[in-house]
Amino acid sequence: MTMLASRLSRIKPSPTIAVTTKAAELKASGKDVIGLGAGEPDFDTPEHIKKAAIDAITKGDTKYTPVGGTAALKKAVIAKFSRENGLEYQPNQIIVGVGAKQVIFNALLATVEEGDEVVIPAPYWVSYPDMVAFAGGTPVTVACPEAQGFKLNPADLDKAITKKTKWLILNSPSNPTGAAYTKEELRAIADVLLKHPQVGIIADDIYEHLLYEGTFTTIAQVEPKLFDRTLTVNGVSKAFSMTGWRIGYAGGNQTLITAMTDIQSQSTSNPCSISQAASVAALNEPTHFLPGWVTAFKKRRDTVAAALNAIPGLSCSMPAGAFYLFPNCTKLFGKKTPEGRVINDSIAFCEYLLEDGLVAAVAGSAFGLEGYFRISYATSDALLAKACDRIKATCAKLS
Ligand code: PLP
Repeated sequence: MTMLASRLSRIKPSPTIAVTTKAAELKASGKDVIGLGAGEPDFDTPEHIKKAAIDAITKGDTKYTPVGGTAALKKAVIAKFSRENGLEYQPNQIIVGVGAKQVIFNALLATVEEGDEVVIPAPYWVSYPDMVAFAGGTPVTVACPEAQGFKLNPADLDKAITKKTKWLILNSPSNPTGAAYTKEELRAIADVLLKHPQVGIIADDIYEHLLYEGTFTTIAQVEPKLFDRTLTVNGVSKAFSMTGWRIGYAGGNQTLITAMTDIQSQSTSNPCSISQAASVAALNEPTHFLPGWVTAFKKRRDTVAAALNAIPGLSCSMPAGAFYLFPNCTKLFGKKTPEGRVINDSIAFCEYLLEDGLVAAVAGSAFGLEGYFRISYATSDALLAKACDRIKATCAKLS
């Protein structure tokens, strides 16, 4: 359609949302599809958080709030960063947005100019490159192969940085691989970044609380000299099972936060007042439910990884966090489906898995690494067991 702006040509719909939609369509048409595409915990939002939202409605907290978040939520965010990350912010260094997604989008729109480069370790969360491109910049992906634990090699980072580099986006634990950086690994990355003062860091810590090995740490904590250059992003979606409430937040340099807030003031205005009240409860109240969730996720991770590793042609490394597995399916490439179609890439494999096995997963190429696929284990043990059986049977039919 000629009405559309040329900037639309730089982005595509989110492939993870596309898989979820396709699975929902198949389900609606009566097919018994198991969706392992979605990136959200299957637990209910804790009761005390829901109650805080209901109280907010009853009290009349139903009007516009300050664009960048209520004073109460900013205070809760500041306390969270101080308590959990050792990062000390003032209210004018905090923004609350409609999910971490909007916060990152605001940051890129506020800073990236035509020709600017943003370094994105691959595999990456699907939205980063499109957001960068939409803002007019160039995503520069750096390959992080499985042999490196899907993590960024500091020497590769050094090589990827040019005079035009504006940001490095670091996501730990990672979507799609679950890989999480240790303090020592972040130290080595920080040392490279100290040599390049023009580069900012977006630390996307949205999976902070879903970590099964080691201790969580974030780059501004590891290297205080990077504090002012780092936008530390987090949110309530994953840690509190609040994906639909749409609240994310970030701490960073005051000038940047003001610019991001200005963009938000001309797009969405404030995030939902009721969700903000709920998020105050989420951040301020005890998180007694979290250890149980983490234990459940860890158990599922172990069970599903073992089941996948027992399937001829698949191999799956054990991630440290998040709720994804990123199995390698390259050994199945070149094989034929019962209908005679050749599986030659991860998209073909995931299409076959959906059509034949009725299991929805996302192709690795969507995340910038061919030869893999992502499954989310944020679903019930029973469904995961059934899904693994189906994947096994479907793979066995390839010849
Ligand atoms: N960052 C990563 C790595 C994610 O996986 C997601 C959601 O899937 C987000 C950010 C966005 O989270 P939110 O729901 O806060 O927008």
